[in-house]
Amino acid sequence: MNDLFPEDTVSWQVQEQHFREILARYDVGEVRVPIVEHTELFARAIGDVTDIVQKEMYTFPDRNGESLTLRPEGTAGVVRALVEHGGLRGKTPRVYYMGPMFRHERPQKGRYRQFHQLGVEYLGMESAAADAEIIALSARLLKSASVSAELQINSLGTPASRARYREILLAYLRPLAEGLCADCQSRLERNPLRVLDCKVENCQKIAVGAPRLFDHLDPESERHFLQLRRLLDVLEIPYTVNPALVRGLDYYHRTVFEWVTAALGSQGTVLAGGRYDGLVAQLGGPDTPAIGFAVGMERLLALQALQNGQVPLPVPDLFMGAMDEESVAPLLQMAENLRNRGVSAITAGPTGFRALLRQAERSASRYQVLLGVSQLQGGTVLLKEQLGDRHWEGSWQDLPFGLAALGVDFPDA
Ligand code: ATP
Ligand code: MG
Repeated sequence: MNDLFPEDTVSWQVQEQHFREILARYDVGEVRVPIVEHTELFARAIGDVTDIVQKEMYTFPDRNGESLTLRPEGTAGVVRALVEHGGLRGKTPRVYYMGPMFRHERPQKGRYRQFHQLGVEYLGMESAAADAEIIALSARLLKSASVSAELQINSLGTPASRARYREILLAYLRPLAEGLCADCQSRLERNPLRVLDCKVENCQKIAVGAPRLFDHLDPESERHFLQLRRLLDVLEIPYTVNPALVRGLDYYHRTVFEWVTAALGSQGTVLAGGRYDGLVAQLGGPDTPAIGFAVGMERLLALQALQNGQVPLPVPDLFMGAMDEESVAPLLQMAENLRNRGVSAITAGPTGFRALLRQAERSASRYQVLLGVSQLQGGTVLLKEQLGDRHWEGSWQDLPFGLAALGVDFPDA
């Protein structure tokens, strides 16, 4: 779990702002749901035989003895909320969430126990048009971070075609079971598809030769997938079809997609999502098709820093230092006055001249000015540029004019 300081959060804030602006263009509204839910919700939504539910959840009894879990992902809670408040009957909500998720994974670069996601969900839309639009939205979100990644898509078919494929896959895997990792061996009969998604080298080798789900789709899923591909072509969104893409959560139907990069090492999936047509009904709501995705903020921002460098902290306009007790009140007053007009100012003191100069330098502000009793009693103050030699001299009361003369904007003046 990470601690973030202003030099870290600056890139988050800039990016979150881009996201909100883009989401507004797609008329996607924000939902805020609790970060704890009943454990039961995740077990039902994500699937009992998934890594998340079996190994990764932060689960604890609350004071009433109910089992609660810190959310490992956002979709289950959002669907729970929409079902609970009747937000789905005859409606097609498009919503997003931003916030922390919790998974007790082995910590490594790009994999944390508290991480953050922006997630988007389109509910009530069955057509591949929704898949295409949500992928276009995901492409735009990544573009706003100036990162480049590759879009991979696949279709997992319907539960029925998946069940048929399961038998075909099992027939292939059973004779090779010895070569699989312990996890895959133990879940082989319950969830053989997970072998295809396993990161262990031997399992990956075996997976390469496996019959492909992609070649055993039902006709309707095949048509849906072709339609999606046609729409992506029309929208000029390049993609590759990756038949090995299965995703770690059980609730996916038909379309799944990921934006991946090789630049982040083995944690290369920046954004991932898919269609989950069965989930709403499974959680007690009306039969509602749905598709969504989530961006991992840490990975997105790491990729951004790698490809574009660190986002710099904003530079304050003015450093204001008080050299004695008597100057403190007029200095604070002037600072408030400037802030009223949109100027960013930081104050320091009262302390000695040298200490103030050091603090001014450290503040990295564009301009600095120091105030003492002699300036207040009719002397002139010196307003100077920190990194250049432009300056202005005048009375303390005229400081705003001095700033304007040196080119500082007064956005709210
Ligand atoms: P992975 O295959 O990398 O474990 P996942 O399939 O578990 O990913 P999802 O549950 O689909 O990931 O979450 C969507 C995105 O959230 C991921 O693509 C990734 O960017 C991010 N993410 C998932 N788990 C973590 C984590 N532990 N730390 C940081 N980011 C994460
Ligand atoms: Mg994972």
